[in-house]
Amino acid sequence: MTFTSTVLPKAKSFCQATQAQFEQFADFLLPRRCSVCMTELATAPALCPTCWMDLHFIKSPICARTGVPLPFDLGPESVSLSAMRFPPAYDRARSALIYNGTARQLIHKFKFHNRPEIADLLTPWLQTCGQDLLKDADYLIPVPLHLFRIVSRRYNQSAELARTLSKSSGVPMKVEWLRRVKKTSQQVGMIRDMRRKNLKGAFEVKPNKVDALVGKNIILIDDVITTGSTVTACAKTLRKAGVARIDVLSVARVVMHETVAV
Ligand SMILES: [Zn+2]
Repeated sequence: MTFTSTVLPKAKSFCQATQAQFEQFADFLLPRRCSVCMTELATAPALCPTCWMDLHFIKSPICARTGVPLPFDLGPESVSLSAMRFPPAYDRARSALIYNGTARQLIHKFKFHNRPEIADLLTPWLQTCGQDLLKDADYLIPVPLHLFRIVSRRYNQSAELARTLSKSSGVPMKVEWLRRVKKTSQQVGMIRDMRRKNLKGAFEVKPNKVDALVGKNIILIDDVITTGSTVTACAKTLRKAGVARIDVLSVARVVMHETVAV
């Protein structure tokens, strides 16, 4: 009898049995449910068929700059009229979903209901829509939250997404390299100039990380792009610090009617 051939397999099967019992007990206490409507499911985090059918994934053709869907395809370099008229401060943005229905509810639960495990559900969608951006990115940088908000929500949802995406893509994540130094008001209902004023001076690059960012390609990670003001303010701060390329990757975005320009 050798230790490796008999004792280890027995110990392994004991551990597997214990783990299975633990999982059964955990299921009894906390049944696996749809992340949105709480229907019981076989796995979690996951969505039930009804909630899944209400997701609207963004598909080509899209605007090469902002990533919004376009009504018809004029090639991979097509840009929407709004991006031509108001060129974004970032280079390219990509989002997996239109921000409505299930996507809106899912992000709301992820953000405000202490459900960090939802990041595991969202990350594969983020990775699929951002595959071109991830190819030669140096760092993932989450859109930062002010410390007060982190304390009230318990975590920064963008940092949770960046953490899981970094694990699956291999692109390093740098939390705290970009910091939120001003507590801003909620942007809802503000016009463009008010939003700009509200976010003025809100972000800074950590002073001892400026040299490490010069000439790099970074991807800003956010849960949702609504007006775009927050990612614009972050992109301007990073550009000023010398970052070469700034892309944005979000789970969802608000989509208005867009027209192709080029
Ligand atoms: Zn459901």
